[in-house]
Amino acid sequence: MSPIGSTVLGYPRIGPRRELKRALEEYWAGEIEAPALRAVARDLRVSTWAELAASGLDSVPSNTFSYYDQVLDTAMLFDAIPQRYRDLGLTGLDTYFAMARGRDSVGALELTKWFDTNYHYLVPELGPDTKFALTGDKPVAEYLEAKSLGVDTRPVLLGPVTFLLLSKGEGRLELIDELLECYAELLGLLAGAGAQWVQLDEPAFVADRTDEELAALRRAYDKLSGLPQRPKLLVAGYFGDFGPALPVLADTAVDGIAVDLVAGPNVAERIPSTLGFRDKTVVAGVVDGRNIWRTDLSAAASRCAQLLGSVGELAVSTSCSLLHVPYDLAAEKSLDPDVAARLAFARQKVDEVVVLGKALKRNDPMLVKELVAAGEAVRKGVEQARRDERVRAEIASLRPEHRRRAPYAERAEVQSGRWGLPPLATTTIGSFPQTGEVRKARADLRAGRLDGAGYADRMRAEIERVIRFQEDIGLDVLVHGEPERNDMVQYFGELLDGFAFTDNGWVQSYGSRCVRPPILHGDVSRAAPMTVEWSTYAQSLTTKPVKGMLTGPVTILAWSFVRDDQPLGVTADQVALALREEIADLAAAGIGIIQVDEPALRELLPLRAEDRKAYLDWAVGSFRLATSGAAAATQIHTHLCYSEFGDVIEAIDGLEADVTTIEAARSKMEVLDDLAAIGYSRGVGPGVYDIHSPRVPSESEMTELLQAAVRAVPAKRVWANPDCGLKTRGYAETEAALRNLVAAAKKVRAHL
Ligand code: GLN
Ligand code: ZN
Repeated sequence: MSPIGSTVLGYPRIGPRRELKRALEEYWAGEIEAPALRAVARDLRVSTWAELAASGLDSVPSNTFSYYDQVLDTAMLFDAIPQRYRDLGLTGLDTYFAMARGRDSVGALELTKWFDTNYHYLVPELGPDTKFALTGDKPVAEYLEAKSLGVDTRPVLLGPVTFLLLSKGEGRLELIDELLECYAELLGLLAGAGAQWVQLDEPAFVADRTDEELAALRRAYDKLSGLPQRPKLLVAGYFGDFGPALPVLADTAVDGIAVDLVAGPNVAERIPSTLGFRDKTVVAGVVDGRNIWRTDLSAAASRCAQLLGSVGELAVSTSCSLLHVPYDLAAEKSLDPDVAARLAFARQKVDEVVVLGKALKRNDPMLVKELVAAGEAVRKGVEQARRDERVRAEIASLRPEHRRRAPYAERAEVQSGRWGLPPLATTTIGSFPQTGEVRKARADLRAGRLDGAGYADRMRAEIERVIRFQEDIGLDVLVHGEPERNDMVQYFGELLDGFAFTDNGWVQSYGSRCVRPPILHGDVSRAAPMTVEWSTYAQSLTTKPVKGMLTGPVTILAWSFVRDDQPLGVTADQVALALREEIADLAAAGIGIIQVDEPALRELLPLRAEDRKAYLDWAVGSFRLATSGAAAATQIHTHLCYSEFGDVIEAIDGLEADVTTIEAARSKMEVLDDLAAIGYSRGVGPGVYDIHSPRVPSESEMTELLQAAVRAVPAKRVWANPDCGLKTRGYAETEAALRNLVAAAKKVRAHL
């Protein structure tokens, strides 16, 4: 049996030029047939294997391809298909896409975040009717496909316990034995086909787990490692530290354990003293699989060397699948060379792993030189990163305890005098539907068909239209509609110093959807006002207050690739300072209500409870640094779009925004009780209109929700608004829904 040596835990699959995205969308639109889609998929698999094998990796993963999502693949593999999709009577492929995207009147499976990344998976539905059976053959077929091309791969499977934990369904953990039978059968087939190693991903165990869940893990791997005919088993945990799962796994007869030494470096210290590692392969994830910086190879090599004496075999790898980074830095032609010199995308990370693997195997002086040089290059790159002493000094000089000078009660009074808004004041969350014309204007500007002045004219025309539209509907606090924003993070990234952008740095978010995150590489500062022109233009058109609209520091970080040479909190404060300056300029220009969106506050929440306080401290601190300079008469709003915020509820209170708008329509206003329970006493706008669907909520439906709201919170603190921005909605449904919302607010007001 060959050792793993050097490997990666997974690879991007959307295609270096997003070939899969295009083929999928053509297939869904009925423009190509299944065989043409399958051919594109096969080409991508073949070129990935060829590339990885040629790069010199000792072990190449397979089954990392997916038409949509690896969790959905696993559900299909074991026949966990809810009856409503079977009833559609479609082919296997179309049943799969129906689960992913919905079909006719049948909605899709729920989509949710993959741990703390920006990838989203489909949540399998398990229940008493679920009868697992190995009905699929994807891992075996792909293993054989690669083998026929001369590449002996290591099939990657989602592990059974993580699969169950990521699914929904009461008592799903009780299905473990039945599911293990299917895994056992699959492992037998893979062994029969010739697979030497199989990787089983169990990232659910880098989060806090109950004893029962740990017991299920033990049960699973005792059973699978005890099979008479099986490949060697590598269990992978990534995005953090395996914690108590580490000794559990080490105590089973699995052959290898992959650990993430980037997100959970401390695990390296525990391995030597953990029983069971002496005869196991440890796959050391020392190359960051989810960020795009070059690895300090000399530091990574020493980290590996630490483990050498205490484990059976040592292999080098990425910390997690490379799914979360773009394909190839070589495809970037317009990056600043100093920034590019600091970067490594998937292709380059594979090379880093290969060099490290070779260096660990033989003490070749040439290789050692290469490692040292790489380490020096990384350190030099960091030293040369953009530094802004003014920003650093300013942050240091601002009071460490960032708070508004006036207490809330005083602010509320001044603000109420300023606008005299009614109780249940109506507003929206910021964006209005992005019309074809708006998108065309942006494309024309990019292509040089439209100059800056021409573009600004188009945006002003759109802003005017949106203002008139809102006046006509009768909203109380208006917005400019955000037509100038392609994306709420990219827009600010492009205007701030310290960010860079790629041409091809696409990363899969879900299915065929990809994002191109900005790269935050140096000290951040604001060169000039970013939103003042648009907001003041909007305000000049109306006597109603227009709300300024900014993206908060945590969200800007969450949706970017962020420098890793300093703590995230330091970077967040720099973004916050830029926003603080923007808020001062907006206020000076007469914009008295300013919203700072933090939809990602919960997204970045650490997977383990013990790490959460430190995170929330800097996250909340950066928000307060951004907003605490505002005078009492400036009303600060924040917006968070999720309703289950149990773990961040205190932090939401800690933001000390004058008004918090949150998602609430789907959870029927329950969030208000949660807020009341912790003593939240400022303004709140529980969303009464679920913007995730084109459905128009009726006036009476929203009336009921608002009535529930005023039962939980005094009416003068309640706002009436949708759950989130309206960017993805159409105008017809938006108009109908907002008219109903305004009518509902009036009705509830009349009965106060
Ligand atoms: N202001 C943003 C919008 O309306 C907020 C988006 C969000 O919360 N994701 O589009
Ligand atoms: Zn939102």
